[in-house]
Amino acid sequence: MQMKRILALFCLCALLGLCLFTSGERGEVTLVPDAQESPALPLAGRKIGIDPGHQAHGNSEKEPVAPGSHEMKAKVATGTRGASTGTPEHVRDLEIALKLKDLLEELGAQVLMSRESADVDISNVERALMMNEWGADAVLRIHCDGATDKSVHGLGMYVRKTGDGASECELLARCLISEMSKKTGAAQRGVFKRDTYTGLNWSTVPSVLVECGYMSNPEEDERLADPQYQNSLALGMAQGLIKYFEALEGGE
Ligand SMILES: [Zn+2]
Repeated sequence: MQMKRILALFCLCALLGLCLFTSGERGEVTLVPDAQESPALPLAGRKIGIDPGHQAHGNSEKEPVAPGSHEMKAKVATGTRGASTGTPEHVRDLEIALKLKDLLEELGAQVLMSRESADVDISNVERALMMNEWGADAVLRIHCDGATDKSVHGLGMYVRKTGDGASECELLARCLISEMSKKTGAAQRGVFKRDTYTGLNWSTVPSVLVECGYMSNPEEDERLADPQYQNSLALGMAQGLIKYFEALEGGE
């Protein structure tokens, strides 16, 4: 009898020890997600703003093209439309932007979207202020282009010509167009400096208007509608952002 009791006590102690050991192990396991958030991911700690161009309905009310300017422009233009697909630009812009959002988050970035649906009314000034207030490290304004000449195609970047941060904007645009062209095979039309875009002029953080291709070109319009091509555009933008942050740190 005594022996059985001792044996039972021993088993109980062994079981208790095992439980403590296992919970200790579990406690350590919970630390792993924290470790994954740190430097291993290439965009960890970066705040990236994504502004998918336009919305279901344009807004022709006017707002100043730049802080303090008397020149007024429509709050939100309507955007272009696919020559082959007939799809409105705001739909394509959002498709590409949502793929980019998922990818950047996988790479460790925090992402703020100016819109995640078509049924909104957010002016270009409001979109810029949203990103300024959030303190974005970089903002990509996702658009597709249109031209009367249907043969025109390729990637184009627009950045502010003057003002604070103009050189960072240009650096970001050059990183983006180079990496996007590598991932998609699309032609590079160039980096264009303009002080005519409300969304860029009101930005106090590095901001680039990314023209992903021409919806007025039937072949490029078809490519832009392809989810695989959209993924390639997103990959190029992500790689461009990584190169941009590397270049910034290298220059410090
Ligand atoms: Zn547009």
